[in-house]
Amino acid sequence: MTARTSAIEAISKHEVAGNQEYLASAGEAIYGEYVFDERVQREYLAKPVFKRLRRTIDGLEPFDTVIADAVAHGVKEWAMAHGATHYTHWFVPMTGSTAEKHDSFLAPQPDGSTIAEFSGRNLIQGEPDASSFPSGGIRATFEARGYTAWDVTSPIFLQVEPNGVTLTIPTAYVSFTGEALDHKIPLLRSQEALGKQALRVLRWFGNTSAERVFTTIGPEQEYFLVDRRLAEQRPDLLLTGRTLFGAPPPKGQELEDQYFGSIRQRILAFMMDLDRELWRLGIPAKTRHNEVAPAQFEMAPVFEPTSVGSDHNMLVMSTMRKLAPKHGLAFLIHEKPFAGINGSGKHNNWSMSTDEGENLLDPGTDPHANAQFLAFLIAVIRAVNVHADVLRASIADAGQDHRLGANEAPPAIMSIFLGSQLEDVISQIEQGSASASKQGGSVSLGVTTLPELPKDATDSNRTTTFAFTGNKFEFRAVGSSAPIYWPQTVLNTAVADSLKSLADVLDGLTPGDFDGLTKVLSEIVKANKQVLFEGNGYSEEWHAEAARRGLPNNPTTVDALPSLTTDKAKALFADFGVLSERELNARADIAWERYVKVSNIEASAALDIARTMILPAAVAYLGQLSAAGPSSRGITHMCEKVSSLADDLVDAVHDLEHAQHEAHEASSLVAEATAFKDRVIPAQGRLREVADRLEAHVADDLWPLPKYRELLFQY
Ligand code: ADP
Ligand code: MG
Repeated sequence: MTARTSAIEAISKHEVAGNQEYLASAGEAIYGEYVFDERVQREYLAKPVFKRLRRTIDGLEPFDTVIADAVAHGVKEWAMAHGATHYTHWFVPMTGSTAEKHDSFLAPQPDGSTIAEFSGRNLIQGEPDASSFPSGGIRATFEARGYTAWDVTSPIFLQVEPNGVTLTIPTAYVSFTGEALDHKIPLLRSQEALGKQALRVLRWFGNTSAERVFTTIGPEQEYFLVDRRLAEQRPDLLLTGRTLFGAPPPKGQELEDQYFGSIRQRILAFMMDLDRELWRLGIPAKTRHNEVAPAQFEMAPVFEPTSVGSDHNMLVMSTMRKLAPKHGLAFLIHEKPFAGINGSGKHNNWSMSTDEGENLLDPGTDPHANAQFLAFLIAVIRAVNVHADVLRASIADAGQDHRLGANEAPPAIMSIFLGSQLEDVISQIEQGSASASKQGGSVSLGVTTLPELPKDATDSNRTTTFAFTGNKFEFRAVGSSAPIYWPQTVLNTAVADSLKSLADVLDGLTPGDFDGLTKVLSEIVKANKQVLFEGNGYSEEWHAEAARRGLPNNPTTVDALPSLTTDKAKALFADFGVLSERELNARADIAWERYVKVSNIEASAALDIARTMILPAAVAYLGQLSAAGPSSRGITHMCEKVSSLADDLVDAVHDLEHAQHEAHEASSLVAEATAFKDRVIPAQGRLREVADRLEAHVADDLWPLPKYRELLFQY
């Protein structure tokens, strides 16, 4: 029996055990159990301290260190009451994963005893000796000082594990010189930039009461689950998160019977565990369903303010990763774990909101509200048009290159889908208002009500990068594994830029002058309408049309990343105080480096598997065939076939080795990345092609890697 067959036998005996006391731990009873939320703050903090903390959390005043010790004491009491023995500052360095280093509360005393200690200073600042994180040159290791600083806007929580509890403090990670070393700081800065400009626009519309504008995010998360016993026999899945080899199975996703299908018991058990754990963490998990590809699933939360929602998305991914093994499953978050079927993405639903709860992308029902809505909408259109290249770069990653533009995900071209009705309204504004609208009636800002906009899915377009979906935008091209901080940062900054240029013009226009406003908006539409596209984003015609319109089309990471460091991008980030030139360059460097490293790991893993697993399988099969003797035409034919494929495999291994070696000789990081894209990745593709053909010929019991049909259908 091979490892493959014994895994399959075990799977067939797998029984789903009930491990939840589901009546005792229904949603309401457990929601937020692990979070130092407002309810708990009120209970554990003195009233004046509580009030001041809330004002900081609501973004109304900076944190006053005078209350730090009092807050820390309350946090410690609460955490210890739940069994916590350790605390950690939790942050998001530029590795793309979260990071944490734990300290116990223990403080030994001179008499040999120990007490639990957690001071205000422990709460608000940490100094992890974290010199090994990528800093893009900002932090040379000899000045290895980076600080973590409590991000008051993101709730403190407990990590509850079977053998202990850790108090976890979300933090920002900053260098000795005050430069951002993480994904959180730029996001918070971009949030502030957007908020400031949005308020200027709101004031023109007569809103004097809103104190703050922030963005909201609801990221839909796609992922795969496969049986762990099978996954563990695939070095490619373990090391790279995707299959580097695998012949297409006879059945893929063509029957579309997985999409929204009834959820298998074993998967549902995982999802139940997941939802409960997320609810305990105060993460509003809402929707779950089967996705299009076999073994692919999705979860979506209720939207939250962007910095909290972005932290929560990291916790969603890590909780999925943590829970999958408990169910004998392997969690795959890669953008393209399997060739030939859909990959995974994240659909970032995004909007802007005031602290009074007004959604600025909600059309509303009276003319005044509509004019304001259209102003914000048109500002976003301009942002996506003017900064399309930077937005594209913000979602660039090696994994994404297998997905974007492959007729399953939005193309690498940034475009906006509004729906025909709204598109009609926008084109009337372009012409300066007051012609008949499709729905009857006329659209003159400030005078007529917009017709009720459709909010159902019938008008949504799956093939666009940026879709307006009734009262929010959906950025559909974000990678499944990506932290969402960075694309949100770029989007916020781009929109801040648009809102600023709008507010600058509005400064010279009398509030209430809606004819003047129409002219202003008309100009913006004229200059930016090329980004609007209602058709099929997957089609060849769109690529040709987009080229005619002069829209950037950067299909790979190597094409996309240069947009991060253009003068335009540098000015954008610097003008709004989001990233200095040095901070931006550091980010770009890290992205280039990451691309090279990921591509290099994949090439090495492919070579290793080809040499030590696939070639030996071919040779073993040839041995069996020749032992059977040249007694039949069939055997002779099979021998010839397999031995010629084995020769091709040896050649392909050699070519890939050569290309990888040459890439390493490149004179710069960008040249190395380019060599990987132009030479190494194609050579690896050819190696895969031969290996996959061998898989289709070598006897099944000799094949060492679990096959696609097993991974995708046997769980
Ligand atoms: P649709 O059916 O148009 O996709 P849903 O209401 O099902 O819309 O929402 C999909 C996702 O969008 C959910 O995660 C939801 O929380 C999020 N969402 C809804 N409104 C907003 C908003 N104003 N800002 C950000 N995300 C939102
Ligand atoms: Mg989906």
